[in-house]
Amino acid sequence: MPTSDFVYNGRATRVVFGSGSRAHLERELLALGAQRALVLCSPEQHALGASVAEQLASRSAGLFDRAAMHVPVELALEARVTASSLGADCIVAVGGGSTIGLAKAIALESSLPILAMPTTYAGSEMTPIYGLTEAGQKRTGTDIRVLPKTVIYDPDLTLTLPVALSVTSGINAIAHAAEGLYARDANPLTSLMAEEGIAALARSLPKIVAKPDDPAARADAFYGSWLCGAVLGSVGMALHHKLCHTLGGSFDLPHAPTHTIVLPHALAYNAEAAPEAMKRIAKAVGHENAAQGLYELARANGAPTALKDIGMREDQLDRATDLACSNAYWNPRPLERDAIRALLQRAFEGAAPKP
Ligand code: NAD
Repeated sequence: MPTSDFVYNGRATRVVFGSGSRAHLERELLALGAQRALVLCSPEQHALGASVAEQLASRSAGLFDRAAMHVPVELALEARVTASSLGADCIVAVGGGSTIGLAKAIALESSLPILAMPTTYAGSEMTPIYGLTEAGQKRTGTDIRVLPKTVIYDPDLTLTLPVALSVTSGINAIAHAAEGLYARDANPLTSLMAEEGIAALARSLPKIVAKPDDPAARADAFYGSWLCGAVLGSVGMALHHKLCHTLGGSFDLPHAPTHTIVLPHALAYNAEAAPEAMKRIAKAVGHENAAQGLYELARANGAPTALKDIGMREDQLDRATDLACSNAYWNPRPLERDAIRALLQRAFEGAAPKP
């Protein structure tokens, strides 16, 4: 029973889920009223992108296979010109957050509908949030035109996701749900999705580490990432996302490992200010303490736990603290510079989260 008033922003995305569901691509394009789709993928996923374009046959307008991290504006411009010159009336994005981000950059200017076929657990496919990088500065914004109209979650497409990236990408998804549970605009429905999403990922990631091609575990993880992505698309994020945005944007740290390392420390920082959220996170990860449970989930599954191991230098911690404290997002506990600096020091060293 709701204990207070709330607003819920439902996002109208059609979701087609299941092993082999990429076979429904043409049906789903037609349901969108589209005839000619430009397929996007990263260079590393060229073979997959080409096979999707081949599957679409005459309904493929072409393949743009150069999606890159953080969506540089020059690339976005090139992709927009390509879509327009090929007469595309739809974008099919096959890949992780970077490829889906490129599709969003096209949709932002052209309003072309996006059909996303994610291959990681990052969750971008369920959000109206876009990011663009110009002269080394990443800016983000929210625009409903960039929210994919249809998402095909085919777990078979994740079988090739390397184990290390599966774990960090899965914990990246957990981070959306964890912060969603203590968001200022949290509501009963997103909290249900958050708890269920965290639980699905916490139980499936160890199974994926043990057997990367376990179809049931891959489907369970994708189900969890869908739910966590939907939370990110509906409610606001807090300290954890601000820290990761800062570390990724200003120090060029890799996206998913950064989320994995920072999350337990951000939760420890907020623990006393958000006790109900912590209880639900702890229950979902099967541990008595939310922050410690996530730290152990990462460690037990071979994920990095120290910023120093993924490219951060100790002499950058002061600047990172200043950046994280400026233009801060709303957070359940006010930002205290010394405590944030101490948080980053622990994350840098790979220490356990503050008890
Ligand atoms: P990514 O898309 O950059 O992919 C990482 C690497 O994995 C790439 O080389 C890619 O080709 C490869 N890859 C992806 N799927 C694979 C698969 N199934 N098999 C083999 N290789 C595969 O990584 P990501 O973590 O998915 O996305 C990170 C980006 O997404 C960041 O820029 C982040 O800011 C953005 N993001 C945006 C939102 C949003 O709501 N706007 C949400 C989450 C992430």
